[in-house]
Formats: sequence, structure tokens, C-alpha cells
Amino acid sequence: MDLAMRPEDVAFRDEVRAFLDEQLTDDLKAHAKLTPGILADHDLRVEWLKRLHKRGWSAPSWPKEYGGPGWNVMQRFIWSSECAAAGAPLGSNMGLSMVGPTLMGHGTPEQRAKYLPRILSGEDWWCQGYSEPGSGSDLASLQCRAVADGDDYVINGTKLWTTGAHIANKMFCLVRTDPKAKPQEGISFILIDEFPAPGIKIEPIITLAGDHEVNQVFFDDARVPRANLVGAENNGWTVAKYLLEFERGGAAHGANLRNSINRLKAIATTERDDGERLIDDPAFRRKIDETDVEVTAVEFTEHRIMSQLSNGQNPGAAASMIKLRGADTNQRITELCVEAIGYYAAPHVLEARNWGSNVAPVGPEHALMVMPKYLNTRATTIYGGSNEVQHNIMAKLVLGL
Ligand SMILES: Cc1cc2nc3c(=O)[nH]c(=O)nc-3n(C[C@H](O)[C@H](O)[C@H](O)COP(=O)(O)OP(=O)(O)OC[C@H]3O[C@@H](n4cnc5c(N)ncnc54)[C@H](O)[C@@H]3O)c2cc1C
Repeated sequence: MDLAMRPEDVAFRDEVRAFLDEQLTDDLKAHAKLTPGILADHDLRVEWLKRLHKRGWSAPSWPKEYGGPGWNVMQRFIWSSECAAAGAPLGSNMGLSMVGPTLMGHGTPEQRAKYLPRILSGEDWWCQGYSEPGSGSDLASLQCRAVADGDDYVINGTKLWTTGAHIANKMFCLVRTDPKAKPQEGISFILIDEFPAPGIKIEPIITLAGDHEVNQVFFDDARVPRANLVGAENNGWTVAKYLLEFERGGAAHGANLRNSINRLKAIATTERDDGERLIDDPAFRRKIDETDVEVTAVEFTEHRIMSQLSNGQNPGAAASMIKLRGADTNQRITELCVEAIGYYAAPHVLEARNWGSNVAPVGPEHALMVMPKYLNTRATTIYGGSNEVQHNIMAKLVLGL
């Protein structure tokens, strides 16, 4: 495999770097550093999206006809890698990455015209109502019920782990419309475009790190127009599977991991209170080096996938492989960061993590986000398809089991 970039890719990378130099201010970067997981502070995401929208770059994977930049696979990879390397706000934006592409594939022309521009501009923020208590990996067992009543559906049930429901004004949701059919055949995909509304209650779930990212959403006779179905009634499983392909691909695992391991090296290179540097301890140095090899392996796998996609090939099980290794390696790096800061991992100074806060962290500044990141990354091996589910996919696709 030839890893050298083509001249046009180098030119594009330089254009991206120039844009990031100009638009990604020190303030934005400092604010973004306070993100423990994949979801930056909402104000920050809105500010960053506005800047991207002005340049026509808010939806890197969208085709031109829907307002995207029309970038090819390699350009999208360069974009996300450069953003990660520069410390741009992480923007898990389910409108851009999930429901937008789904509407392009399965929505009506009216639905596309209504929703896509508002996703691009940041007027609408979407959340994903799939999982329920007892229905995560086994999503087809979901129970949230929608019963037709005149021009509406009446929805009753609950959705769990709904990322960003508290800042969203729209939800895309899987509901059971035919309880008598086989599990996959009685599900519909519906857009809840008044969110929250009467009959919809959002309860926060505060994570171990003290962050509010996920929620439980309760539906109690909530009414949603039947015209908001995407695809036909009871055909939601097909729409959902289409959407999941977007959820499982597209992240710049390599660049994000390279960032994290560089952060680990910076911590280990800093003098501790006893005047020693952890990087000089051969045992710890070895742990860093071993993890660095893992990061390099993820980077190369990603290059291989990019090369296959650019040639119109399907990477198959490699998408699961990279999700799995990316998540494991990410967790490993955050564990080593905790080891590296020692007792400074213990203080929990939530206020110091608010942007513009005058509360000082306990210990060196680099220690502030180490424990929150460690705790937050425990979820990376669960969401977007757990490790065990990825193993099952690989067993089937690679080993034919
Ligand atoms: C931080 C976070 C954010 C999330 N955001 C959203 C969101 O925005 N919207 C949304 O709809 N959902 C969201 N989820 C839910 C997520 O998709 C589910 O948690 C995930 O699919 C796992 O489902 P579960 O929690 O029901 O666990 P289960 O499916 O019950 O799994 C429990 C354990 O059993 C294992 N297991 C399950 N099935 C198998 C199998 N067939 N073979 C082997 N092992 C198996 C799993 O790997 C896991 O270890 C989020 C979850 C987290 C943690």
C-alpha cells in the first residue's frame, strides 16, 4: 500500500489547516479540552457549527445537492483527522451523521426540504430514541408503542441512554406499530419534531464523572403526526439498519488516539512533585510504547479502510475491527493517564471544568480532565455496538461462524 498522499490531497490538507488556523481560536480549543467524551458543551458545538456552516463545511459527508461540500472519502478522512489533531470541538451531531443521511435515503422530498437545511444551520439538534430498558444489543425487542389515532400516533413507553435529549429539539425514534408481527417486522421509524412536548418527559442520567450527557425519555400519550413516519409503517427496521451503518463508520479513531497518546506522553514527561519524570521509568515507558504500537495499528487499519473505500470496495469486518480496537486502545490510554497523575486522580472538582470558571483544579492543570476522561471512556466499548457484538460480527464475516 502506498501511504504517500497525492498532490491534490496535500493541497486539500493545507486548505483545511489554513481554515483551522484561522477559525479554531485558542479560546475554542481551550473550551474543547474540557470535553470528557464525545459530546462537547452545547454552546461550543453551536459556535463551531456556525463557523463551519459559513464556510459550507458543516456536513462533511453530505453530497453537494443537499448542502454538503461534496468531499470524497479521502477528503473526509483528512478533514476529521486534521480537526482531531488541531483539538477542534468534538461534535457528535446526530442530525448530521445519522438522521440527515437517513432522510436522503428514505425520506420524502418534503421531509428532506423541511429538515436538512435546519440540520446544516444548527437550528435543529436531533437525538436518537432507539434503546430501551432491556433492548440495546437486542434492539428488535423494543416495546415503545405507537397506536394510530386519526392523523396521529399516540406513543407510550420509554427510551433509555438518550444522548443529548436535554439539548435536542427533535428526536428520531423507533416505535412498535404492530405487536403481533415478528419483532423486526412490527417496528416503525418516526420523527418527533416537537421535542419535548406534552406527554414527553426527559429525566437526566448523571454519569460517574458528574456529566449530563445521557437521559431517559418517557412517553405518556404523546401525539405525533402519522405524516412523520420515515418509510412505510412497520418498515422501520430497514430504515434503522441503514442509519446504523452511519453510526458505526466515519470516526477518525487514529487521529483521536494519536492525540490522546500524545497527551499521555506530555503528562509522563512533566516533572512530578518528587522531581522525577515517569517517562524515565523503563516499566512505564514500556507501557507507553506498547500502546503506541496499538495506536499505529489502528492508524494503518484506518488507512487500509480508506484505500478500500476510495477504490469502491466494502471494508466488511474491518469497520467492526477498528471500532473494537479503537475503543479498547482509548480505554487503555486513559488508564495510563490515571496511573501517570497518581493521587491527583482522586480530587473531583467539577466546578473547575466549567468554561470560564475561576475555581482552580487541585494539582497540575493537565490532571483536571484525566479522571473524567477515564470514566467517560468506559462507555466506548458499549455504545455504537458493544465489543461482544463486534466480536460476533467478525466471527460471522471473517470466520464464517
Ligand atoms: C454513553 C452511552 C450513550 C448512548 N447513547 C444512546 C443514544 O443516544 N440513543 C440510543 O438509542 N442508545 C444509546 N445508548 C445505548 C447503547 O446503544 C446500548 O447501551 C448498547 O446497545 C448496549 O445495550 P444495553 O445497554 O441494553 O446492554 P445489553 O444489550 O443488555 O448488553 C449487556 C451485555 O451483554 C452483552 N451482549 C449482549 N448481546 C450479546 C450477544 N448476542 N452476544 C454476546 N454478548 C452480548 C453486551 O456486550 C454487554 O456486555 C448509549 C449507551 C451509552 C453507554
